[in-house]
Amino acid sequence: LLEASGISKIFGKLTALDDAALAVGEREFHGLIGPNGSGKSTLMKCIAGAEVPTRGKVRFINTDITAFTPTERARAGMSLKFQITSVLPALTVYDNILLAFQARCSLFDLVFSRTRGVLHDQVMALLTQFRLADRAHEAAATLSHGQQQWLEIAMALAGKPRLLLLDEPTGGMSLEERRVTGELLEPIKQHCSLVIVEHDLDFIRDICDRLTVLDQGRVLASGTVAEIQANKDVQEIYLRRA
Ligand code: ATP
Ligand code: MG
Repeated sequence: LLEASGISKIFGKLTALDDAALAVGEREFHGLIGPNGSGKSTLMKCIAGAEVPTRGKVRFINTDITAFTPTERARAGMSLKFQITSVLPALTVYDNILLAFQARCSLFDLVFSRTRGVLHDQVMALLTQFRLADRAHEAAATLSHGQQQWLEIAMALAGKPRLLLLDEPTGGMSLEERRVTGELLEPIKQHCSLVIVEHDLDFIRDICDRLTVLDQGRVLASGTVAEIQANKDVQEIYLRRA
């Protein structure tokens, strides 16, 4: 589904990514891990088009999308979780999802191909899936921090992307909220692949099929969760951090 290869990103004198690669299959949950500053967010941004890599190529659904803008990538089926500021706190939970649909559909889709009823059903289905249906008509500002994060994931899923990119979605969540987040993500596997950046290794082991480990901008290892857990080099960087 996704194949990023030979990705380098240089900021002035700093090499944030050095020949990094990431390959994700259909309906695969892929964890991107590594120490602070190892280049995880930069790689996610290069994939989503929010940063232009200095070198490298990104292929998505059999198309070379290296030259695509973020909007073109979104239309092709890629979705990066909005930052927390993208939830509009004064609007209702419902209207936030509706706006996310609008951002992802062409006006033609919205006005002509989808009747109002269909769009309403899609908004409510997402809200139900993310356990927010009973809060639909309250202002988003009234949600807890965890619920706001779930709302953002729901917003990123509006328009059924083929690939969802989540950069530390459980930041600031309680253990219980993390557990629920794992449950909420599970069903999207039926139609969507996931790349998730996480510092919580237990969480990522539970939900991911494969992992890629970055260290100083380079891929240290990539493989199944079992392979990565058994990898001596990976164990070493995590010991170094501890
Ligand atoms: P963290 O776990 O802390 O989120 P990360 O793995 O996501 O770290 P990145 O944010 O990708 O790391 O940063 C990689 C390196 O690139 C860091 O040294 C960072 O300071 C640098 N960097 C990132 N963005 C920029 C930028 N826009 N300009 C200059 N340097 C940057
Ligand atoms: Mg980061």
